[in-house]
Amino acid sequence: METKFQPLKENSTNQPTESKSDIKPLAKWSLDNFEIGRPLGKGKFGNVYLAREIKSKYIVALKVLFKSQLQKCQMEHQLRREIEIQSHLRHPNVLQMHGYFFDETRIYLILEFAGNGEMYKFLKRQPNGRFSEPKTANYMAQLADALMYCHARKVIHRDIKPENLLLGIHGEIKIADFGWSVHAPSSRRKTMCGTLDYLAPEMVEGRDHDERVDLWTLGILCYEFLVGSPPFEEEKQDLTYRRICKVDLKFPAFLSIGSKDLITKLLKPRAEDRIPLKKLLEHSWVVQHLSSEVRSRLPFFQTATSNNE
Ligand code: ATP
Ligand code: MG
Repeated sequence: METKFQPLKENSTNQPTESKSDIKPLAKWSLDNFEIGRPLGKGKFGNVYLAREIKSKYIVALKVLFKSQLQKCQMEHQLRREIEIQSHLRHPNVLQMHGYFFDETRIYLILEFAGNGEMYKFLKRQPNGRFSEPKTANYMAQLADALMYCHARKVIHRDIKPENLLLGIHGEIKIADFGWSVHAPSSRRKTMCGTLDYLAPEMVEGRDHDERVDLWTLGILCYEFLVGSPPFEEEKQDLTYRRICKVDLKFPAFLSIGSKDLITKLLKPRAEDRIPLKKLLEHSWVVQHLSSEVRSRLPFFQTATSNNE
């Protein structure tokens, strides 16, 4: 059995607090290292279980994928890329991949456990299926900080949407599902991917794209968080296509001027016109709502402001 291994991290409050040296960075993982708990959910290629590493008692989510299903859909390459990218990222708002191992039939991903589950379900449970402006602004700041970190490493996510976001024990955002992410620049840059509603015009039109597609998807997400549905949603796909390309944006009356301003600055048809992530963090609507607790957990924002002092 081959293994890949990263030390299990001990940073959340529900975890045991042994010293880091107890965990060998080159430990080889296998199913014998884990106690398997309740199922957390079902994915396209397998199931996710709550699990505990026996020696350290560290709680993780174990994603079990069936090789046969991955092969049938020719997803092995994509999974390899997902593992390579996600296991090298360390940010409080990026779901950490601690490692992986496999046997004859399955591949196991050792993932950080996101204690508050899926963003999508949480959004649907809200009154009118939407978040308040302060809550949304705090989510946007976390996403901007995490994406600044990813983009600095030339990683584009390309598939930011509520279904791919999980929530940690403090209610903080955890970006998951790097299945469509790429190391930019890439020869596969023109690949069509992502959900239609969230596709940037350059991707709809099959043009070259870069990390600024993630700015567009942040704009769509901000709208969906505040309104309860994405801005260009239509029953017929070709209508959505057309509305994306025209940026046919309509705001309900209850949105504030500040939130509309930010969404408009993200949803620019030309990538070069979109507000950069650093400016998003400085946008008055975000600053106005940003809580001190969330601010203290933004590593990029912290560095940027301490450099200014
Ligand atoms: P895919 O990732 O293949 O597109 P998917 O997103 O539908 O499929 P998975 O990512 O496999 O499915 O996850 C299935 C479900 O398991 C999620 O929707 C979520 O409820 C739960 N889950 C997945 N990973 C975690 C995690 N790290 N912590 C907590 N729950 C998780
Ligand atoms: Mg998923």
